[in-house]
Amino acid sequence: MNSSSWVVVGLDNGGTSNNATVLDDSRRFLVDSLVESPSHVGDGPEVAVGALIEALDHVLRLTGVARRSVRAVGLGTPGPASADGVISLKGGTNFSQAAWHGFDFRGVLEHRLGVPVIYNNDGNAAALYAHHAHFGRQATQRSSVSAIVGTGLGGGVIVAGQVIKGAAGMAGELGHVHIPMQGLLAEGQEVPKCQCGFVGDAESVASLTAIGQSLLPYWLTRFPDHELTRAKSIGEAAKLVRSLGEANDPLALEIFGQQAKALGRLFTIASNFIDPSAYFIGGGVVEASPTFREWFLARVREHTSLRKEQIEVATFALIPDLDMAGARGAALAALDSLDAL
Ligand SMILES: [Zn+2]
Repeated sequence: MNSSSWVVVGLDNGGTSNNATVLDDSRRFLVDSLVESPSHVGDGPEVAVGALIEALDHVLRLTGVARRSVRAVGLGTPGPASADGVISLKGGTNFSQAAWHGFDFRGVLEHRLGVPVIYNNDGNAAALYAHHAHFGRQATQRSSVSAIVGTGLGGGVIVAGQVIKGAAGMAGELGHVHIPMQGLLAEGQEVPKCQCGFVGDAESVASLTAIGQSLLPYWLTRFPDHELTRAKSIGEAAKLVRSLGEANDPLALEIFGQQAKALGRLFTIASNFIDPSAYFIGGGVVEASPTFREWFLARVREHTSLRKEQIEVATFALIPDLDMAGARGAALAALDSLDAL
């Protein structure tokens, strides 16, 4: 039995599973590993909201906390959604069914639970966790930018310990910031296109989708005898690039080198916009071997053009506990909302 008088719960709603965590009133996480359960988002909002409530009850049982001790819940989901957790009218990758379009995910969950539910998109939630994990008690006096390389390029901007959400909830969409392509692309390499319709934005280079759609097809023309030319599909091949990078495969290093350059250029833009105290990198690359991820981080840093004054104060770091970062960030946002009352 846990001794704290009340808690908040963080729920990270993903395409296949929900992750849940519990944070007590002294900012201590009561869960130190991944607590996962099926998210059922493919079965529509009604079933998915039920699954989230089950995820909450499950993590409470694990930690020996009663439901009545929960003062607020943090919810994180992939976007696009409004700042207040209403899924886009056009749906999204995880929310393709018509019933999801314009669904007030946060509002419905809050109604069902009877406690305040605080919404953040999953990138912003992970960015908030990275910020607090790195700065601890100094979090409210610092700013940071997080870039999380997954299927797309997510992340967030934190200023004074708070997520910058923007007027329409679309701040911190780092993946769709255009970056200079000159000196990034190799000879004869076409300017890559993003899913969002932009040409040459950060996600068009620094994402798993970018590897499959443009980087790998190009680099295979430069390494025609490479083992990946025999992969079943380009999608399968793209997934193998990371482990090849860990083994110092020259083709994989070209690809990750371009991604690091893209992130460095993105951070250079960030340095002129908000001049943050820290630059964080997360995603699949963080789950790679320590040597590889340190190599990657060093390359990103090398390609971020900071002024001398900025170099003296800025840090570059990897996002820790990445599989739990979304749920933990959602919980921190819920706790902060109570502190603000
Ligand atoms: Zn884009």
